[in-house]
Amino acid sequence: MKRSIPRGPVHASDEHDVLILGSGIGGLMLALRLAEHARVLVLTKKRADDSNTNWAQGGIAAVFDRSDSFTRHEADTLTAGAGLCDRAVVREVVREAPERVRELAELGVAFNHEGRAFELGREGGHSRRRIVHASDFTGRAIETTLLERVRAHPNIQLEEDQLAVDLILESRLRGGSAKRKGSHDACWGAYVMDRETHRIRPVTARATVLATGGCGKVYLYTTNPDVATGDGLAMAFRAGAEVASLEFVQFHPTCLYHAAARTFLISEAVRGEGARLRTIDGTRFMPGVHPLAELAPRDVVARAIDREMKRRGDPHVWLDLSHVPAARVRKRFPNIAARLLELGIDMTRDPIPVVPAAHYMCGGIQATLGGRTSLPGLFAIGEVACTGLHGANRLASNSLLEALVGAHLAANEVRARLAHATLPREAVVSDHNWDSVRRVMWDLVGIVRSDERLAFASRRLRLLSEEIERDYERLRLSPDLVELRNIALVGSLIVASAMRRKESRGLHFNLDHPRPVAAWGRRTVVQRRARARGGALVFGSDRHL
Ligand SMILES: Cc1cc2nc3c(=O)[nH]c(=O)nc-3n(C[C@H](O)[C@H](O)[C@H](O)COP(=O)(O)OP(=O)(O)OC[C@H]3O[C@@H](n4cnc5c(N)ncnc54)[C@H](O)[C@@H]3O)c2cc1C
Repeated sequence: MKRSIPRGPVHASDEHDVLILGSGIGGLMLALRLAEHARVLVLTKKRADDSNTNWAQGGIAAVFDRSDSFTRHEADTLTAGAGLCDRAVVREVVREAPERVRELAELGVAFNHEGRAFELGREGGHSRRRIVHASDFTGRAIETTLLERVRAHPNIQLEEDQLAVDLILESRLRGGSAKRKGSHDACWGAYVMDRETHRIRPVTARATVLATGGCGKVYLYTTNPDVATGDGLAMAFRAGAEVASLEFVQFHPTCLYHAAARTFLISEAVRGEGARLRTIDGTRFMPGVHPLAELAPRDVVARAIDREMKRRGDPHVWLDLSHVPAARVRKRFPNIAARLLELGIDMTRDPIPVVPAAHYMCGGIQATLGGRTSLPGLFAIGEVACTGLHGANRLASNSLLEALVGAHLAANEVRARLAHATLPREAVVSDHNWDSVRRVMWDLVGIVRSDERLAFASRRLRLLSEEIERDYERLRLSPDLVELRNIALVGSLIVASAMRRKESRGLHFNLDHPRPVAAWGRRTVVQRRARARGGALVFGSDRHL
């Protein structure tokens, strides 16, 4: 029997105050904050620690050093964002950072210390040392600590292997009748598939939070784990929420190039400690590209590597730390060094083969810093949200921070919603395609784009999406098909955003429009769906900053 989302009236069996989808730093931190005031259900689609958070190596940016200042951190963030950051958001995030980091330390995250102060690392684009870290496995330290706290809290229920498929909308309550004329739609929870039984159940809630992370799996090569299929972004878009700035995909310059370890990241912090990039014949190339050489912003480094590889026809470049004292390397990067040794590479001596890979989505569901979206009842925090912090490019180590500050502020927003929202009474609640979508994105919508490549990608993705939608209607739903449908939609949204921006800025580089254009310097590309169900992608009016 085909399992599908219930189309007619379904009485909700599962009612909650707050439903949080996702168990990375954003979802877990928010759950802990809200649990003092409400009962919280956290659903996550695989194991609880399957998240981008768990893989973060570098750390969290915050001003602690005496020679540093909020103004400097703000300026570095704005420079990376290439004119498209929301200044008020940048200011608030930077000023919240030290307090939010201290709070994580108090929860038990074992950050490295120098005496009584945090030990601070340096990363690309930062003019000072300001990266608080737990060796080179900061994300794992955070994830483990937060999960322990969440599991111990009596007001939080955490369920694994629960894949959210779509959001429950008011317009589909009471038997799916259209929403009242002129009234806004609202979100009242999500349809959720149990990965083991494939059974889908409606889970209703007075506030629903998407903390579903990124969408690196849209691309063939990515640093992201398998869960990063852009589900939250796709669900929100299908539900009519606005999504923005999807043309700004960050490619991490240095992912290990090795047949046995396709997605292992070599942290930016390695370049922060002095590593040099060289072509295969040993020539250093970054000093001629940017005054900060290897510590130039990520987009500059990724493009330079891409250019060298294409120009020379090489499969990778080298990252070389052999001139840095071995003891220092082992102490600062125990996790990376151990992983590389397993693969036969001694990073204190041998150069590391690296290539760029899709890493971080700067755009996302348009939301305030506190997570409010254009759809009442729906909140978005962390990587899935677009708050205006990153603009056209993310400064390294600002994303864990954004999720932390987002969770802190969203707690108040969600509480305000709970104070007045009441659930409507009658609550009603293929492998080759995977590869095709990801290859189209990699080949045609990667680090260097052109009008022709984007138009071709758009046509290919339209055909693939039609095929996938037919399967979605016809076949028994499986987690694989649900995620495939999401990466195809997110891919199409990235292409549509990239086609819209007729210039190059930040992470978006188009050979046919190679320079920034002043008129685009204050415009954010916003997309929204025209109809609640079916229908083409529609652009809302682009927002002017
Ligand atoms: C290798 C790597 C290194 C990084 N290093 C750094 C760094 O040093 N500093 C920094 O600031 N940032 C870093 N980042 C980025 C940072 O880790 C992420 O932006 C951040 O962790 C995102 O947190 P999140 O809570 O928004 O999402 P995530 O941590 O990705 O969590 C998302 C959660 O949602 C769940 N989920 C997804 N879809 C569904 C669904 N349909 N139903 C139910 N659950 C779902 C996932 O399973 C997961 O639990 C790095 C990222 C990677 C991949």
